[in-house]
Amino acid sequence: MEGHMKLGALEAGGTKMVCAIGDEKGNILEQISIPTETPEITIPKLLSFYEEKEIEALGIGCFGPIDVNRKSDTYGYITTTPKLAWQNYNIAGAFKEALDVPVGFDTDVNGSALGEYTWGIARGLNSCVYMTVGTGVGIGIISEGRLVHGMLHPEGGHMLLSRSREDTYQGFCPFHENCLEGLAAGPAIEGRWGKKAVELAGEQKVWELEAEYIAQALVNLTCILSPERIILGGGVMHQLQLFPMIRSRFRQLLNGYLKTKELEDLDTFIVPQSLDDKQGIMGALKLGMMELERNT
Ligand code: ADP
Ligand code: ZN
Repeated sequence: MEGHMKLGALEAGGTKMVCAIGDEKGNILEQISIPTETPEITIPKLLSFYEEKEIEALGIGCFGPIDVNRKSDTYGYITTTPKLAWQNYNIAGAFKEALDVPVGFDTDVNGSALGEYTWGIARGLNSCVYMTVGTGVGIGIISEGRLVHGMLHPEGGHMLLSRSREDTYQGFCPFHENCLEGLAAGPAIEGRWGKKAVELAGEQKVWELEAEYIAQALVNLTCILSPERIILGGGVMHQLQLFPMIRSRFRQLLNGYLKTKELEDLDTFIVPQSLDDKQGIMGALKLGMMELERNT
């Protein structure tokens, strides 16, 4: 069923920008995608998509690190990103000024968590974790019904893991030898095995190691955050054979320490994204709606 509101959504990624118009029910009415170049080139293109669409609010799920602290002078900025052209760029401010509507702003992965929480497989829960395994690894968190921030925002992709003994790949994170992203994101699979992840679909060893690292991360997240459900998305998670491997290794690593009804059935605790890879853009829509509500 179609809603009556017109809302803008932007999933701002390091390689592409997905722009959409949608409604308060999560329907996406129109969507385009453009490559991420410099702000000077890209922002005007994005603005021309939203202008004259009469949106009531815009939500942005953004690559980071970003400033999500409303009390900060640089709230709404992309901060220390390795993408130099976007460093210290006031992305939320640019849209607010040009479009003159409320602009909701959060990390891309908090956006995806919110999409699943509002319209997807985490609906009705109070807490969930969303993890993307793609070009990088990112983690979005909802706890007691709220998106989790902090001094900055969670950067769960850089949690440190125990390296598997037979793994000689050095990791691709310039900051950490043993972080989740450096060992398990798409570029790590490609760097370790010399082929694109999708071309390795039939290689059991590849996915066993991948499942090992993801399972370690999920045990850490479970012990720290106690989520009711963990949702996995991103390009690498299209390898659905990973799910049973991750669940089985997760059970081994947790080793019976926690006993909850959620953990009895790992098929419903560790699940794939449920919104056809639209969780990010739908979550951005909801970020816009929430900002509109704050302002009224
Ligand atoms: P991004 O993280 O840039 O938003 P994706 O989530 O699509 O984009 O992640 C891209 C990464 O996922 C690449 O490293 C790519 O090799 C990997 N990838 C994409 N599709 C698949 C697939 N079907 N199977 C395994 N890996 C994939
Ligand atoms: Zn790292």
